[in-house]
Amino acid sequence: MSTFKAILISKDDAGYRAASTELAEDRLPDEAVAVEVAYSTLNYKDALAITGKSPVVRTFPLVPGIDFAGRVTQSKDPAFRVGDSVLLNGWGVGESHWGGLAQRARVKGDWLLPVPASFTPRDVMAIGTAGYTAALCVLGLQRHGVAPGDGEILVTGASGGVGSIAVLLLANLGYRVVASTGKQDEAAWLTKLGASEVIDRATLSAPGKPLAKERWAGVVDTVGSHTLANACASTRYGGTVTACGLAQGMDLPATVAPFILRGVTLAGIDSVYCPKPRRVQAWELLAQHLDKNSLHALTTEIRLGEVIDLAPQMLAGKLKGRIVIDVN
Ligand code: NDP
Repeated sequence: MSTFKAILISKDDAGYRAASTELAEDRLPDEAVAVEVAYSTLNYKDALAITGKSPVVRTFPLVPGIDFAGRVTQSKDPAFRVGDSVLLNGWGVGESHWGGLAQRARVKGDWLLPVPASFTPRDVMAIGTAGYTAALCVLGLQRHGVAPGDGEILVTGASGGVGSIAVLLLANLGYRVVASTGKQDEAAWLTKLGASEVIDRATLSAPGKPLAKERWAGVVDTVGSHTLANACASTRYGGTVTACGLAQGMDLPATVAPFILRGVTLAGIDSVYCPKPRRVQAWELLAQHLDKNSLHALTTEIRLGEVIDLAPQMLAGKLKGRIVIDVN
């Protein structure tokens, strides 16, 4: 029986812990498609799972990792053949089903997408669930009619994974992007990614008024809490706020004023159970409009064994851009 390297999260009498380990292949779940994983990534949710800070993990023991890219090695699903290059985001993988922080995975064929022709497996994981979520936010703005000429788009948590790819994508699409960050020393980096202006997140993160001066045509919010409330309060008449994250908090201390007095739309973004047609649309948007050189410049590559040490730093908001993991 061959073995593979993986991160394994356990919870028992000895407590909650994540460890780097070696597992026998027959421990993988009995699903239709076996994948030799090439790359995975560190997402905020993975950091929550690894540290146990939030109840992300639904079953123990569990291999975390909400995304991966690799090569099909066995398939009982006619949609996939041995050798196909595939990627996966979400579907409860890394939460209730064994995930991508391992050299092998077994998943349902319905959860897999082909790696777009213009990307390598490493590229799609440099983008990862964070970047695909950023694309879902951009599609959300477009669906609600926010066009490049309409005015400024606020991106919060701009130096993070979702935020940095949102800045890159929106700027490449011709939007004027204002990046909100707690890392003022990264202002030049954010400007290079495409931000027209960089603002201090402290201007948004404290309790604010129900309505503030109208500024944003659209918002990509990755942090929630007072920041999201203030973003809604300062969105222009008819604008759209896409909400995908909770890095500041899960609460939303807001009033209905922006919605009933300014017709602002609050659009929720979920990447995990997002239907397949919209996933395909998001990956097409990324394939067409994400500059690969800029993507590589915001990506840091690490080894599988380093992920446990890095997870607390992510939750502390100390990392920037995307962390891609070479699991081999
Ligand atoms: P990162 O850790 O890469 O980025 C989060 C960023 O938020 C940080 O870099 C920091 O940016 C900012 N931040 C951190 N702490 C605080 C705080 N206390 N107050 C205000 N801002 C803070 O995470 P990701 O980009 O991968 O994910 C961002 C969020 O989106 C997470 O909450 C994650 O769970 C969520 N998410 C949701 C998905 C969905 O399906 N809805 C899918 C993917 C992610 P800066 O220093 O620039 O301010």
